Amino acid sequence: MTIPTLELNDGNSIPQLGYGVFKVPADETERAVSDALEIGYRHIDTAAIYGNEEGVGAAIAKSGIARDELFITTKLWNDRHEGDAPNAAIAESLEKLGLEQVDLYLVHWPTPAKDNFVHAFAKLVELREAGLTRSVGVSNFLVEHLERVVDETGVVPAVNQIELHPAYQQRDVVAWSTERGIRTEAWGPLGQGKYDLFGTPAVAEAAAAHGVTPAQAVLRWHLQKGIIVFPKSVRAERLRENLDVFGFTLTEAEVAGIDEIDPLDGSGRVGTHPNEFN
Ligand code: NAD
Repeated sequence: MTIPTLELNDGNSIPQLGYGVFKVPADETERAVSDALEIGYRHIDTAAIYGNEEGVGAAIAKSGIARDELFITTKLWNDRHEGDAPNAAIAESLEKLGLEQVDLYLVHWPTPAKDNFVHAFAKLVELREAGLTRSVGVSNFLVEHLERVVDETGVVPAVNQIELHPAYQQRDVVAWSTERGIRTEAWGPLGQGKYDLFGTPAVAEAAAAHGVTPAQAVLRWHLQKGIIVFPKSVRAERLRENLDVFGFTLTEAEVAGIDEIDPLDGSGRVGTHPNEFN
């Protein structure tokens, strides 16, 4: 199984499909990530706030997989944007992960009411220069936040990780990012199971036409749009299913049908609005 990679604007490359461990309990994480690595995943998305970086690290250490074959992302939490706090935060994450360097370090949320995300991103750029992360990016940034980061630091983030699934596509953010070479990563690629995505006719019909599950059809939709995904499951059979999405291609009409699921009024959002999270 070869997972395609995408080039980032800093010359590094990222596997387009990975495994995200939000809400994977700390005591289950080592087993779940070990399963994922065994099944063939090489890209793991975690965060300091998930409380499971140690489990990710333990699975990596036990796997025996060469470090340069893995792509590990973690994120700076909201209460550590100020001053030199990001330096201590990444040191703690690296210690827990058992790594000397992560592949991607993200500002987890912009927390705009505190107006410190530009500083936090500038600190991440310093951490990259110090070799503690290979790439730097942001998460949950809207166009207004991306604009400020680019204008005020002169550095274009490698990725922006945002809520993105058929009912909430954030097309303005994706278009702005694509024009400037910022890759978009989807969180909640399956809508976090919070609405009946799999029973929506465009998804169900595309899945039936290709003899795949609705989850596979939705993941394929993301991949064909150039989006990076890391669906979460703790079940080995679903980890296998979610990786098995490279043997079929949705037609343009099927992609367009799934595009139409977004009501375009923001009502499809299942998570917190970035401007409301501070
Ligand atoms: P998701 O859309 O991946 O949904 C996960 C849910 O879908 C799980 O509860 C699982 O039961 C179900 N599921 C998974 N595979 C399935 C399948 N094949 N068939 C049926 N159901 C299936 O949501 P998520 O976990 O929130 O998002 C993925 C990752 O994105 C996270 O694990 C995390 O790494 C990241 N994330 C980041 C942020 C952020 O603020 N940056 C926020 C949320 C999540």
